[in-house]
Amino acid sequence: MEKKPFVTLEQVQEMVKKYPTPFHLYDEKGIRENARRLKAAFSWNPGFREYFAVKATPNPYLLQILREEGIGVDCSSYTELYLADKVGFRGDEIMFSSNVTPREDFKLASDLGSIINFDDITHLKFYEGIAPFHETMSCRYNPGGNFAIHNQIMDTPRDAKYGMTKEQLIDSFRYLKGKGVKHFGIHAFLASNTITEEYYPKLARILFKAAVEIKRELGIHIAFINLSGGVGVPYRPEDHQNDIMAIGEGVRKIYEEILVPEGMGDLAIYTELGRFMLAPYGCLVTQAIHEKHIYKEYIGVDACAANLMRPAIYGAYHHITVLGKENEPRDHVYDVTGGLCENCDKFAIDRSLPKIDIGDYLVIHDTGAHGFSMGYNYNGKLRSAEILLKEDGSAHLIRRAETVEDYFATLDLEHGFKL
Ligand SMILES: *Cc1c(COP(=O)(O)O)cnc(C)c1O
Repeated sequence: MEKKPFVTLEQVQEMVKKYPTPFHLYDEKGIRENARRLKAAFSWNPGFREYFAVKATPNPYLLQILREEGIGVDCSSYTELYLADKVGFRGDEIMFSSNVTPREDFKLASDLGSIINFDDITHLKFYEGIAPFHETMSCRYNPGGNFAIHNQIMDTPRDAKYGMTKEQLIDSFRYLKGKGVKHFGIHAFLASNTITEEYYPKLARILFKAAVEIKRELGIHIAFINLSGGVGVPYRPEDHQNDIMAIGEGVRKIYEEILVPEGMGDLAIYTELGRFMLAPYGCLVTQAIHEKHIYKEYIGVDACAANLMRPAIYGAYHHITVLGKENEPRDHVYDVTGGLCENCDKFAIDRSLPKIDIGDYLVIHDTGAHGFSMGYNYNGKLRSAEILLKEDGSAHLIRRAETVEDYFATLDLEHGFKL
């Protein structure tokens, strides 16, 4: 499948008159349509709620769009909770799924009335010294072993730092029950960026079985199962595009099979998707500013790994379109690089692309999640702007680019350097 950008050369030429490249651009129409598809896929479950993983794209304007679509937020730090509160998320619209949690984070999560998802059994006593238990509390489960679909290992939960063992999960719920907690949630995140419709149903089977076992043993009310994140997107043109309707239907079948016969048909399904919600609806727009011919052919662009680090740290593939040359043959082979003094700062290696000329605009696809948010300031590179392409076609600045003053702001000490 050819990947088409959601923006045209003409639109970018208009935008750069006001906002120079590089910038992350988001597609409101795509975000809303996808959010509605997800809700439709789980509409069979009356309690269903998606909690968007804020870490993927922590911009309040985008969170507001998701909020308008009836979506909550999944936070894992003080700052993310603070942001969620400012955007207007309240109480059970906030899931707090953290690990190695500092005291003040638990305190704020409790003050906001959010649903707290404990990563470990030792956190219960730690938390008790800080804030009261709420009527509804959740625990994160790690079943250990390998997580495989059709004998193919997707991930290795036994090597993951998250969650607790089955025994600890049961002990935690018993303890919480003794403290007056009334409703319980079970959470697990076992594989990332899965491009198969079978991930959620397989995870659901594991969690639903655990829920039945725990309910029988402790006689408690399991109110929700949180399938967390991990539904992936097709970064490569040849990757499978997950059919969210098929995923919802797959979970429904397991629900009917395991939970309904146990009288647990009131249980709500929650998700904490990040990538699936936003990755395809964001892109990094950058301009070719140099070309270099040594042992390989290089195109140097004005963005760098500080704006998008996934290729540099995981060798992740991000598709590239040269705007205005969508239909030209891909008969040149380039490394597309940023300007960090690190050889891993390459958006593409040996990539077949149309002939690129200095001044061409490149769209780096699928940066709407885990893109801007993973940015950093290495080599004194500044974070870019974020722009929202509204449904009416207008472009709105939703975060300005950093300035040199921003970079030095934390050195503004009483007796320090004046920069
Ligand atoms: C990162 C994360 C998510 C979102 O993961 P995606 O791969 O973006 O779907 C959800 N929940 C928790 C606890 C996370 O850490």
